[in-house]
Amino acid sequence: MTVRAGFALCLVAVTLVVGCAGDDQGAPGDQGTQDSSGAVGPAPVIVATTSILGDVTANIVGDAGRVEILIPAGVDPHDFQLSASEGERLRGADLVIANGLGLEESLDDVIGQLESEGTEVVLAGDALTGLVSIDGVGDPHFWQDPLLMHQAVTTIADKLAVIDPDRADGYRARAQAYSAELDTVHREVSALYASIPSAERLLVTTHAAFGALAQRYGFEIVGVVIPGGSTLASANAGSLADLVEVIEDRGVRAIFGESLGSTELAATVADEVGRDVEIVELYSDALGEPPSSAATYLGLVRANAELIVAALTRP
Ligand SMILES: [Zn+2]
Repeated sequence: MTVRAGFALCLVAVTLVVGCAGDDQGAPGDQGTQDSSGAVGPAPVIVATTSILGDVTANIVGDAGRVEILIPAGVDPHDFQLSASEGERLRGADLVIANGLGLEESLDDVIGQLESEGTEVVLAGDALTGLVSIDGVGDPHFWQDPLLMHQAVTTIADKLAVIDPDRADGYRARAQAYSAELDTVHREVSALYASIPSAERLLVTTHAAFGALAQRYGFEIVGVVIPGGSTLASANAGSLADLVEVIEDRGVRAIFGESLGSTELAATVADEVGRDVEIVELYSDALGEPPSSAATYLGLVRANAELIVAALTRP
């Protein structure tokens, strides 16, 4: 990576509310710079695959290194295709942080190859306990539960401490502070969700991206528009007819679409139901773009809770 390209990426990262180590920050292998912890050594370049993991990682890294995001806010990670230059960015990283669990479907082979070539990789979803499953496999959308994200933060901080031991204390301290924020946001949204009567805690969503949220906060997923845990599957007429029926039978009040994709199918389903069903867009697999309140991960968790509570408690 050239210094110029590094600087350009750094500017992109700044607009994504991700920290940069400083103006003199160059590519990996450059002369070390001194960060606020006083450690001297080459500042690591970390590439996170998703905007969600990028924001979380930036909170752990602080000014000790540079965090870049591969799949920007507003882009569907299931459907992402890696370009040759993006492949080089991954290869040049000191650490790659991926979601795993099949989220970045097109990256599975590339990530395996990077690991075999010696690039340090964290698969954030791999070490989690208490993951829900979709059709017998782990649900990749663990971030919809901030307490599962808390576990992932520990995994990421531990790895950073191993690859950059001079700054280990800083990574651990920032991870601890951020985890406290995750616990706080969990308590906040728990209190919000408690205002929904238990019989009304029903979710119909575009794809099966909210299983972790449902498990943590006591919702029942009564149906999905696109079957399975990926946006790449397609709906069929039979399953949509079944969905209309279950929405009618269970008195479902809203269909939760997604900020990333089209809500056209959800609207078609809603039209078939013999009463008003609201379509509400949630933040599923990527951060919202600024100035959206979901432009940070903590903001995303709060925004989804507010949207769900508003839709399911409307008189
Ligand atoms: Zn998804």
